[in-house]
Amino acid sequence: MDFKYNISIVVPLYNEVESLPELFSWIKKVMTENNLSYEVMFVDDGSKDGSWKVVESLKEQNPEVKGIKFQRNYGKSAALQKGFEAVQGQVVITMDADLQDSPDEIPELYRMIMEDDFDVVSGWKKKRYDPITKTIPTKLYNWAARRLTGIYLHDFNCGLKAYKNEVVKSIELYGDMHRYIPPLAKFAGFSKIGEKVVQRIGKLFINQSGKLISQRTEFYIALAAMIMGVQFFLAGFLAELSGRNSSTRNHYLVEKIID
Ligand code: UDP
Ligand code: MG
Repeated sequence: MDFKYNISIVVPLYNEVESLPELFSWIKKVMTENNLSYEVMFVDDGSKDGSWKVVESLKEQNPEVKGIKFQRNYGKSAALQKGFEAVQGQVVITMDADLQDSPDEIPELYRMIMEDDFDVVSGWKKKRYDPITKTIPTKLYNWAARRLTGIYLHDFNCGLKAYKNEVVKSIELYGDMHRYIPPLAKFAGFSKIGEKVVQRIGKLFINQSGKLISQRTEFYIALAAMIMGVQFFLAGFLAELSGRNSSTRNHYLVEKIID
C-alpha cells in the first residue's frame, strides 16, 4: 500500500492556544532533522480560546498542517477517531497538545514500528512528578488493565503512542475508549505491542491545563508574597534587635497593683 507520508501526527486539542506554536515548531524541527515526511493533524475539540485561529495561521506557512474543528467539545476519543479517519501516513503518532510529551521521541517510535515491526508502541512516562493521590490510582488502573488484557504495559494512559496505519484504520473510538487503544488493537488482531520509556516534560513547570506556570496569575501573586514575606520577617527581626538595645526595655508604666 502507498502512503503519502512517513508519519502522521494526530494532536487532539481543547483550549491549548499557548502551546500550539511551540509544539508545531518543535515537531517541524525534529522531522526536518530526521528527513521524515509528515503531516500534523490538529483536531480542535471545541476550543473556546482561539486555538483554531492558531492552527489556521500555522497552516499559512506550513502545508504539513492539517486541521479538523469540532462544533463543540466531544472528548479526546472523538478527536482521535476523526484524526485517525483522516490520516495518510504510514506510521501514526498521537501526541497531547499540552507539551507534556516531547516530539524528540518521534524518530525512535517510528523506527520501532518500521524496523522492529511493532503494531503499537506505547509511551511509558517512567519518571512522574504527580502527587500520590494521582500515582496510586494510576498504578491500580495499570495493574488491573494488565491483568484483564494480558498486555504488559506499565502505562496504558500515556498520550504519546505510535501505530501502524492499518491499526488506527481498524479500530473505532468513542466515549472514553482512548484509554483502551492497546487492547482494542489486540482485539483487532494486532498483537505485537511494545513500550518505550519516554521523557515527561516537567509537570513541575506545566500545570494541569497545560499553561506554563510563569503564565499564570497565581505565580506572580506567590512571587510577590514571598518577597513581601521576607521583608516583613526582616523588619520584625530588626525591630527585635533595636528593641533589645533600648535602655528602657524593662521600664513599664504601672497604674495599679493588687496584692
Ligand atoms: N483534550 C481533548 N478534548 C477534551 C479534553 C482534552 O481533545 O475534552 C486533549 C487535550 O487538549 C490534550 C489531550 O487531550 O491535548 C490530553 O488532555 P489532558 O492534558 O487534559 O489529559 P491528561 O494529561 O491529564 O491525561
Ligand atoms: Mg496533559
